[in-house]
Amino acid sequence: MKSQLPRHADIVSGAAGGPALNALLPPVCPVSNEEIAIAGAVGPSGWTSLQFIAAPCCARCGIPFAAEYGANVECPSCIAAPPDFVTARAAVVYDEASHNLIVGFKHSDRTELAPMFARWMARAGRTLINSASVLTPVPLHPRRLAARRYNQSLLLAAKIAQMTHARLAVSDLIRRRATPPQKELSADARRRNVAGAFGLAKGAAARVKDAHIILIDDVLTTGATLSSAARTLRKAGAGRVDALVLARVVKGGIGAI
Ligand SMILES: [Zn+2]
Repeated sequence: MKSQLPRHADIVSGAAGGPALNALLPPVCPVSNEEIAIAGAVGPSGWTSLQFIAAPCCARCGIPFAAEYGANVECPSCIAAPPDFVTARAAVVYDEASHNLIVGFKHSDRTELAPMFARWMARAGRTLINSASVLTPVPLHPRRLAARRYNQSLLLAAKIAQMTHARLAVSDLIRRRATPPQKELSADARRRNVAGAFGLAKGAAARVKDAHIILIDDVLTTGATLSSAARTLRKAGAGRVDALVLARVVKGGIGAI
């Protein structure tokens, strides 16, 4: 007879049972679902399947290059249509392995992963972040925030701020309108979808003026969302806007979530 008990991986990932139940069970690797010794970490086979991004890469958007082309070289996409942020950096390639990580973090309450992701991101963004940087999470629309109960980008930004002593701007940037999910949209449609989606919170203008802002998000797909947010901040007088994400799509990889 088939067991009616939920699978261990489902329980720990939050697909069955709640956080209290999770605390009683051995932790599992968020990539491979194997049991591991410490919660909020990746197991040995998970490590080998993740692709961490290192130089050489596009000087602007950070997409990895197959070969070293010299300093300050940008990819064809950035040359053809420069994004509104100065520099973007990502910790890992968005592929099947990191997809599992991010889906668990974003949709299954696996918030215990935030410190590990923040360490990866602080390393990927080490040339951008200093104590004067203002880490600004990409906001969710209030309706989406109510449904998800937490903004994964804010969790990441808060942990990175703790580690690097950069400043944290929790709510200066706001989502003015709810935008449909970008998943099935072309690059052009994504740009149109998020155009004008962001604004500044009341009283934020003085804090944004001349600031070095680093937008924090989970995934960079085409860069349309980050570019739209950067445009809003630049129009408000920000001195410089960069972006730091956990994972980025690399052409030929899997699509967005
Ligand atoms: Zn580029």
